[in-house]
Amino acid sequence: MKVYLDGAANTPLDKDVFKAMKKVMPGYFGNSFSTHSFGIKSMQIMEESRNKVAKALGTDIDNVYFTSGATEANNWVLKSLYLKELEQRKNPKHVKRNRIIISAIEHSSIIHCCKDLELLGAEIVYLKPNHLGRIVSTDLINIITEDVLVVAVMAVNNEIGTKNDIPRLAKIAHKNGSYFLSDCTQFLSYGEKYVKIGKIFKDADYLTFSGHKIYGPTGIGCLIVQNNAPIYSFISGGAQEQGKRGGTSNLAGIVGIGEALEKLSKRKDYEHYEKLYNYLSLKCKENPEVHINFKPDHKNIVNVSLSLSDNQRKAIYSLAQEFDWHGIACSESSACDAVPTEDGEKIPSHVLVACGLTREQINSSVRLSFTRFTSTKDIDYFFEVVKKIMKIM
Ligand code: PMP
Repeated sequence: MKVYLDGAANTPLDKDVFKAMKKVMPGYFGNSFSTHSFGIKSMQIMEESRNKVAKALGTDIDNVYFTSGATEANNWVLKSLYLKELEQRKNPKHVKRNRIIISAIEHSSIIHCCKDLELLGAEIVYLKPNHLGRIVSTDLINIITEDVLVVAVMAVNNEIGTKNDIPRLAKIAHKNGSYFLSDCTQFLSYGEKYVKIGKIFKDADYLTFSGHKIYGPTGIGCLIVQNNAPIYSFISGGAQEQGKRGGTSNLAGIVGIGEALEKLSKRKDYEHYEKLYNYLSLKCKENPEVHINFKPDHKNIVNVSLSLSDNQRKAIYSLAQEFDWHGIACSESSACDAVPTEDGEKIPSHVLVACGLTREQINSSVRLSFTRFTSTKDIDYFFEVVKKIMKIM
């Protein structure tokens, strides 16, 4: 039996999305920036999709920038803001803002990007989550200083499913004169009313996400820029994306992400995820060897740990690998962090470390994340495999 419990890493491509992409893929090959009729048609299709994205999110069409994914969008915001800050320092009147605050449970596309900026002189301040895996707004009030350029806190964590109070955190940043970025990659998957991030997070200046977490294609994502916040050129090149992100547009991907968002905004996927979570919780009560580590707000992402003995833990190098041998795809941290170091050492999830789990607890944990196609039978099979894994010693 094959069971996929890794929707937070990738969702299957929706059939209607694929159909929409196939309509443009062989036929509309004109470069959307060419001035002939082929190019004009591609440009028209691209702008129709941008309009779909804006409508689904509840934001203005001019606020929508297409990128290759959330990683690029996050890098775009942080790096271009900081490079501009460095440039503005040539003006003796410029008031320096050298600090960037990020939550300690951000995706690696924020954390590693900030490590790059540290090399350029930026000071990075980490906002720790509480023991429940959430960022507390008073902690931001306590650490924010007048030299903070930008604050970045994700809407929903990709490893434990906890939600942060973005409207409140964004207001605190604004009061301080700092910009606010929120990675919404895992927030959107809940569907319907949750898709309107332009409205729900109207106080956030920058919102980012990827197509492949919402039943759209990989290699496409969006950056939404609101409140007249500045956005500077990032990938230098042609005139694409208002002259700020050069490179020939990915028309099929753009059509795909527009279609995926339009469809998502009509679907109450959260109802299905909540039912699955309730079922999983019940099964955990019946099988106390499986424990839910943090109570997720978005219940399609559940971090669980197994009560492994010391001997079992020593015998298992990777719990996700053990599940894979039994046909279950799940993960130990974000897929982007799942690769061991060159000397084969396993890096513990920075999210679970920041939330206070011990190394033993981390080594006994896996992330289960659901898709529209996950069923209670898949969860039953997970518990069957748990029993097999725990009896290996
Ligand atoms: N942010 C979050 C919260 C994510 O879960 C991911 C994907 N794991 C990303 C950013 C990066 O997305 P992509 O790989 O599509 O750029």
